Amino acid sequence: MSAYAQLSERWQRVMMPNYGTPPVALVQGKGCRLWDADGKDYLDLLAGIAVSSLGHAHPAIVEAVSRQVATLAHTSNLYLHEPGLRLAERLTSLLQTPAGTEARVFFCSTGTEANEAALKLVLRHGQGIGRRRIIAADHGFHGRTLGALSLTGKASIREPFGPYGTDVVFVPYGDVEALAGAVDESTLAVLLETTQGEAGVVPPPDGYLAAARSLCDSTGALLWLDEVQSAIGRTGYWYAHQAEGVLPDVLTLAKGLGGGLPIGACIGIGPAANAFARGDHGSTFGGNLVSCAAALTVLDVIDSDGLLGHVREVGASFAAGLAEVSHPLLTGVRGRGLWRALVLSSDAAAHVELACRDAGFLVNAVAPDAIRLAPPLVISADECRGFVDALPQILADAQQDLDGTRVGS
Ligand code: PLP
Repeated sequence: MSAYAQLSERWQRVMMPNYGTPPVALVQGKGCRLWDADGKDYLDLLAGIAVSSLGHAHPAIVEAVSRQVATLAHTSNLYLHEPGLRLAERLTSLLQTPAGTEARVFFCSTGTEANEAALKLVLRHGQGIGRRRIIAADHGFHGRTLGALSLTGKASIREPFGPYGTDVVFVPYGDVEALAGAVDESTLAVLLETTQGEAGVVPPPDGYLAAARSLCDSTGALLWLDEVQSAIGRTGYWYAHQAEGVLPDVLTLAKGLGGGLPIGACIGIGPAANAFARGDHGSTFGGNLVSCAAALTVLDVIDSDGLLGHVREVGASFAAGLAEVSHPLLTGVRGRGLWRALVLSSDAAAHVELACRDAGFLVNAVAPDAIRLAPPLVISADECRGFVDALPQILADAQQDLDGTRVGS
């Protein structure tokens, strides 16, 4: 019996069925490579869903986290610590707000918590101006806790847990006219992803976020950008909104910020910076010293290794290479930086994900017809090329799998 078979049997006895049994048991990582419990190795093209920004076991993260855990791991938020302070200073200064614009940070541990904090923050702001309505996008994803879920535009995961108390209206993502029709003087906030990640890495048309910004400006609504998946280098910018020339009022982060350690952040900018009063929100673990040490290291390494430029360059050549692959199953490539989706001609993503795994590549069937690629930001052009070269055979295997003619696997 393989090591995986034994582990998956144990999993099925004790774990809740919400995830289904994962198809691989991972035991070790180094750089962009991962090893499973039976010794097979993979190129990691997913980074734990856009999280492990510096790859696995990066020496700088190992050093910073080990040093911090050996010094002081946890204080709660009853006590101040400098790593948290430094991280908040770095994140706000990276925003490059106009002089005189305040920005303040709340730390938590995950993306959904960042959005919960942001929801409470905007509701507090709304109490002052008598507004509650939030405009969010169809197919958007903001997390699994009830506040974030109420704003999530995927009906299949939202509806089983409703009704909710949130006053939300969903509009088609990327449609300026629909947004203009929904936003008015009663709107408290507009909540958008800069690219819809869980919907299948779907970027908006050019100018969409700028149009959202100006609709918010003209109606007095807050622009809340959920950059849980897109920020901290994923698109080749510290924050993806920087490529669009807009500044949000509320910004949520998580995933890649900690490079594998759990940390999230909600940043209030301008009027939203001071919407919380003392006692309004809290988290025992949020902004833990160890996670802050990891996040500071992520920012340092992105800076010192020029990773923003690297992501733009390698991301562009990766996308160009993928787009040249010719196979009836593959109709296109979309996305930004090192955050891409292979768009398929049919609902074959599960088969393509399986064929990738068999060939030694970890990817994600993010939608029935889309494969998400979100590798560590440190991935090399050669590693990307390895996947591009393997893709024709992978697609052929997936096609055979679909046709029921594939032998083995
Ligand atoms: N917001 C966005 C845009 C996301 O992509 C995700 C997760 O995929 C979340 C929020 C929720 O983050 P978490 O799973 O850390 O709670």
